[in-house]
Amino acid sequence: MAVEQTLILIKPDGSHRRLTGLVIDRLDAAGLEMVGAKMVSVTEKLAREHYRALSDKPFFPNLIRYIRGEFHGFKDHRVLALAYRGENAIGKARAAAGATNPEHAAPGTIRGSFGRITTAGQFENVLHASSDEADAEREVRLWFKPDELLEG
Ligand code: UDP
Ligand code: MG
Repeated sequence: MAVEQTLILIKPDGSHRRLTGLVIDRLDAAGLEMVGAKMVSVTEKLAREHYRALSDKPFFPNLIRYIRGEFHGFKDHRVLALAYRGENAIGKARAAAGATNPEHAAPGTIRGSFGRITTAGQFENVLHASSDEADAEREVRLWFKPDELLEG
């Protein structure tokens, strides 16, 4: 297995519901090493760039509002961005996160235990985890400058 880097974002529902520590604990338990961490004020531009592959989806406008904290009262648009490194880091982080739709996420995964779909139909799934090598590389570079990451 290759050593990989992956991007984790504690989404606004995750921090609003005080799940930041739990997410970090689960990723720790998965054997991943944190190599970058910072609070980011998510601009509209950054949100759109991060989710650019989904720009034609019907849920895209609400996804941008969601990641910018607009459903959870974060006027400063705060998100905790984390970079992790480890063997098969992308797959391990995705496994800890669980499926995108909290209703389908396995019990015991972060999303399966703590995610929800609101009555308005909005997925609140606690965290972002890069989905594959290409996304992980692009996303780590989008959220972190090279000198903000520990060297491998
Ligand atoms: N999303 C949504 N409805 C959907 C699919 C996705 O609201 O039907 C949101 C959800 O917040 C998800 C994000 O869009 O985490 C990115 O979607 P993706 O398919 O990349 O899922 P992920 O990689 O986050 O599991
Ligand atoms: Mg994705």
